Amino acid sequence: MMTYPILKINQTKLYENAKKVVALSAQANIAIAGVIKGVNGDLSVAEAFMTAGCTQAASSRTEQLKTFKTYNPNWTTLLLRIPMFSELESVVNYADYTLVSEKATLQALEAVCIKLKKSIKVILMADLGDLREGYFEEGELLEAAIYAESLERVSLAGIGTNLGCYGAIKPTVSNLGKLVEIAEVIEGKIGRQLEIISGGATSSLPLLVTGHMPKRVNHLRVGEGILLNMDLPEIWGVQVADLHQDAFTLEAQVIEVKDKPSHPVGEIFIDAFGHTPEYEDRGIRRRAILGVGKQDFVMDDKLVPKDPGVSIIGSSSDHLIVEINESVKDYQVGDIMAFNIYYGPMLHLCTCPWVGKVIEEPICNLAIDEQKYQSL
Ligand SMILES: *Cc1c(COP(=O)(O)O)cnc(C)c1O
Repeated sequence: MMTYPILKINQTKLYENAKKVVALSAQANIAIAGVIKGVNGDLSVAEAFMTAGCTQAASSRTEQLKTFKTYNPNWTTLLLRIPMFSELESVVNYADYTLVSEKATLQALEAVCIKLKKSIKVILMADLGDLREGYFEEGELLEAAIYAESLERVSLAGIGTNLGCYGAIKPTVSNLGKLVEIAEVIEGKIGRQLEIISGGATSSLPLLVTGHMPKRVNHLRVGEGILLNMDLPEIWGVQVADLHQDAFTLEAQVIEVKDKPSHPVGEIFIDAFGHTPEYEDRGIRRRAILGVGKQDFVMDDKLVPKDPGVSIIGSSSDHLIVEINESVKDYQVGDIMAFNIYYGPMLHLCTCPWVGKVIEEPICNLAIDEQKYQSL
């Protein structure tokens, strides 16, 4: 018997999405790093992305890169978060490429590479205004590039940028054009072409789709746009091919169905999370409670009931409350209700040990060799 809640992951839909994004990008000479951090490095997702032609399996976490390397040593891996000193051995062991934004980190990476008799490629980050990671001063970036070029075991693969994360800055012809300009200055100084000019994440896809991506950008790091494809159509008004938006489905079980007032009865004080909520009195409503809660998905406003007549009215740690007056189905205790999800709930559901995962329409068999993992 199935234990709920469960997260269904449709591997074929993910494969098809990845395939379309990879094909579209290939027309502009752009390689796609498949970003798998949003699903806790799930191997079925990684397999779908890599089979579809992503050139790197990318994550912000070295633990996930280790899983990828154990599962398939032929996959090329990319570490997305600039490294912590405390993880440098793992970085060198499991990442083929890493983003870097500090000279001290380049130096420390070189030392670890010497110790482990290994090598690593780096992509130096330029901060073009979003104000998360990267060199804000162009001169400092040039200096770091020349330094990286002088190292033995650390090699300079290229430069990249991240936009739209902290400062919510939009990727444009102007800021990505600047990235290319900086890359060409570096190329002039080191006397060779850079392998990678990495122009951002999902939020850079609109430039690609509209044909405005600066020519020499040849690499993007894409997660959300393949996994869920919610942001581009909704926030950017951009359709990338026609991608599935329902590769992930949350299913939860109904544990109570009753008619209750829509306004709580008694003196309203504070809820389980220290807030004093306000309620509109809409009379008696038919409500269902589901056995899933904030501990699993954190954000109830980023779940979308598949039944268009169901509306979410709130949640606590372990309960989700919905109204079902207009629901298509006549829900009873024991029934299963399904939801589409946005990135936030996906991230949390994938890391929550209490949420079961089911792979639908698998494209292959997944097996990870536990012994090999321990010995890596
Ligand atoms: C998470 C991340 C990405 C991917 O972001 P999406 O919006 O999911 O495409 C790309 N680059 C870096 C540095 C990231 O941390």
